[in-house]
Amino acid sequence: MTVKAPLNQIIRDIRHCLHYLKESGCTGFDCAPQNLRVLEKLGVPSAGAPGHAAETLADIRTDLGDCRRCSLNDSRTHIVFGEGSPEADLVFVGEGPGFEEDRCGQPFVGAAGQLLTRIIAAMQLSREAVYICNIVKCRPPGNRDPQLEEVHQCLPFLKRQLTAIRPRVICALGKVAAQTLLETETPISRLRGRFHDFMGIAVMPTFHPAYLLRNPEKKREVWNDVQQIMKRLA
Ligand code: URA
Repeated sequence: MTVKAPLNQIIRDIRHCLHYLKESGCTGFDCAPQNLRVLEKLGVPSAGAPGHAAETLADIRTDLGDCRRCSLNDSRTHIVFGEGSPEADLVFVGEGPGFEEDRCGQPFVGAAGQLLTRIIAAMQLSREAVYICNIVKCRPPGNRDPQLEEVHQCLPFLKRQLTAIRPRVICALGKVAAQTLLETETPISRLRGRFHDFMGIAVMPTFHPAYLLRNPEKKREVWNDVQQIMKRLA
């Protein structure tokens, strides 16, 4: 066994921790010697330490409850929380549930979902080995893009899910997922094809499978993006 793998994990953990602190409003550390001595005496609480258990996906689902934080709850049938491995190295983030997903409460089960399942299989992976979720957890009426307020209410839950899973790579499916995670209005055609950063996690934007169904000539680009992810995970 080499030391590289554990070292990479430690580096990823530190990056996650720093991003979590930044998200929580931390803007710096007071490293004055007298304060460091106080901290040394207190000990450093770790996620694994008793009384500091890390939040699980089940905890987050419980907290989400029968969510009524935005108006999407008026028209939804089911909340689509996300599914897959809680220890996935790869998380796919889509836009929001469609008709089929709203009916059954699972992400990516309609026509676009079936294509995503084939893409995952082509990566020598299974839906059970990855995690699949969306920017918003309730179906926007008529499959319109989610609105800012809906994303604003839902995104913190996605961030908590990503913190719990700690994947190595996120594949952002389509414009809404990529632009939301990367806080940009750059078109997906210019974002895709290279890695970006979200919460210290590598993000590969690519075309949404629904777009791919309408534009099959874009398969080559998606395959290129997916191969980069596979290389990164190897
Ligand atoms: N499209 C999405 O973006 N997400 C789903 O879950 C299904 C279709």
